[in-house]
Amino acid sequence: MGGLGSGTWFRLSQKDTVERSLVLAVKDFRKSLHPYGSGSFTWTWGSGAQASIGYSVTFHGDCPIVNLEYRSFGQEIRIPVRMQTTPTQFGGQRWWFTCPLIVGGVPCQRRVGKLYSSRWSRYFGCRTCQGLTYRSCQEAHSEERRVGTIEGQLEYLDALKRREGIE
Ligand SMILES: [Zn+2]
Repeated sequence: MGGLGSGTWFRLSQKDTVERSLVLAVKDFRKSLHPYGSGSFTWTWGSGAQASIGYSVTFHGDCPIVNLEYRSFGQEIRIPVRMQTTPTQFGGQRWWFTCPLIVGGVPCQRRVGKLYSSRWSRYFGCRTCQGLTYRSCQEAHSEERRVGTIEGQLEYLDALKRREGIE
């Protein structure tokens, strides 16, 4: 299991497509959404190249935060991803990631089931932020991406809850 910051990241030299991106699916985290939950993921390509990331789970009140941790281009990266739920038809709940990226100064905050990375972003974010759909690569490339602070993400969650009348 990967501890904090144990992940290693290798530069991808392949064409950037959704298939070539690294993908994190919310279903793979479901079992770890408890205090002290942690784990790691490794991707291996045909060429033998590998990429891996570690994660640990912390809580802000009832809200789990998945902290993605890895090294990219010699830099330690830590991305807090706020988790959220929506009720299902049968009284259960469905988990979602909240996209942690701020693109061109605008926090994304989309509720998504998958997070992607791509060659021009050292971070994980939703497909739209990563420019994998809807927008030209050129356009996606030109916008600055950064990771929103967890405080900012939580503020947004509070505002959302107020708007939706939850708690
Ligand atoms: Zn996004």
